[in-house]
Amino acid sequence: MSLSPVSPRPTFDTLLVANRGEIACRVMRTARAMGLRTIAVYSDADANARHVREADEAVRLGPAAARESYLKVEAVVEAALRVGAGAIHPGYGFLSENGAFVEALDEAGITFVGPPASAIAAMGDKSAAKARMANAGVPLVPGYHGDDQDDALLRAEAGKIGYPVLLKASAGGGGKGMRVVESDAGFQAALDGCRRESRAAFGDDRMLIEKYLTQPRHVEVQVFCDTHGNGVYLFERDCSVQRRHQKVLEEAPAPGMTDALRREMGEAAVRAAKEIGYVGAGTVEFLLDADGSFFFMEMNTRLQVEHPVTEMITGQDLVEWQLRVAMGEPLPLAQHELTITGHSFEARLYAEDPEQDFLPATGTLTRFAMDLEGACLDPAKVRLDSGVETGDVVSMHYDPMLAKLIVHGGDRVQALATLNRALAALDVQGVVTNRAFLQRLATHPAFKACELDTRFIERHEDTLF
Ligand code: ADP
Repeated sequence: MSLSPVSPRPTFDTLLVANRGEIACRVMRTARAMGLRTIAVYSDADANARHVREADEAVRLGPAAARESYLKVEAVVEAALRVGAGAIHPGYGFLSENGAFVEALDEAGITFVGPPASAIAAMGDKSAAKARMANAGVPLVPGYHGDDQDDALLRAEAGKIGYPVLLKASAGGGGKGMRVVESDAGFQAALDGCRRESRAAFGDDRMLIEKYLTQPRHVEVQVFCDTHGNGVYLFERDCSVQRRHQKVLEEAPAPGMTDALRREMGEAAVRAAKEIGYVGAGTVEFLLDADGSFFFMEMNTRLQVEHPVTEMITGQDLVEWQLRVAMGEPLPLAQHELTITGHSFEARLYAEDPEQDFLPATGTLTRFAMDLEGACLDPAKVRLDSGVETGDVVSMHYDPMLAKLIVHGGDRVQALATLNRALAALDVQGVVTNRAFLQRLATHPAFKACELDTRFIERHEDTLF
């Protein structure tokens, strides 16, 4: 690895975790193991939450509403200054991809465990990001991402790309402001609808157009960069099993990848990160077509929910890597030192009711446990990342994800068998969850047979619901 002179980043012995739930607990676990003092923050709804109980110290941010607590930049910065935290880990969601937050930390002299504000900004706008990626030689879905937003021009561009096309809000995220257009006849109405939705959600109605791939897989590459100019990829995850563009089951490595394709996608992802001066953990999302061609979709400039499957197959602790990079250390390993061992799955356990259109569920968890021994499961192969324990209250204020069940096996068949046994061993009472739905997914013959694409759930609705 090459070393170039950079200004040293300050080291720190106290870490504030600006998040809640399972990710706050997971980040603190590694921070504690590294000898750091851990600080939790909380809203009134979380005063007795697990992440608060597990921290060395906790600071109240404000009322239950995220806007008045976890999303409040000044309150978080003030909390860090008050307890003398040298660094803040943002987790995912909340302030993790908020450039203004990173700038506020820079000003306060607090280390942000994540990329520079400029890298977040470079990926924040889908159109601008695509222009940068084209520049770095990263393949893009055929489409239009220009500044000229004239209706007639967009319609002509859609015709050139060829229907079906996908209209996307440049400022979009979370699947909002996105519409498939089947033919020229429906274009204008779809454009008007998308613009309206995007203006309402993001205060911005610029659109981009992409060729709509009918059966793509969602394959994303984990990248890591340090402040010394090094960048590596930690292979890929397949997140094709989605419900309304939300991931439900993830796995690593992606089934059917050849070594050559893995390297090609990995190297493209590292080029993408280097193009924007990236530092820390990032994920480059691609659509993978049946013929092996892949296209850049977006880069998430934070640790992903599904990072544990990568940890399982590489044997690395990604939060430890993040903290070391934030301390100014070089990456722990070079590309040739990273290898894949076995296969891993993650299932997301949500407090929601599949019988009622996945409506979020609330209540008191009268039991939340997993009997590994009773199910003859090896604790080294099963990991439950959760933000709750028996007795905890699940409120309607935040994301309904309760926990993530992560398993490892020698190969995909073994890992899937372990996932099914572990799902059966989960004992959750008092709050409705999607566990039975996860079990139907994980035992589905088409899933076993790796017939994966982003419309998997939609296509198998009759056997999954
Ligand atoms: P958002 O930022 O709103 O999540 P993305 O651009 O990441 O939007 O796309 C979300 C999902 O939409 C992807 O995971 C994929 O399932 C689907 N998707 C996005 N672009 C295309 C495309 N060009 N063709 C087919 N499906 C797509």
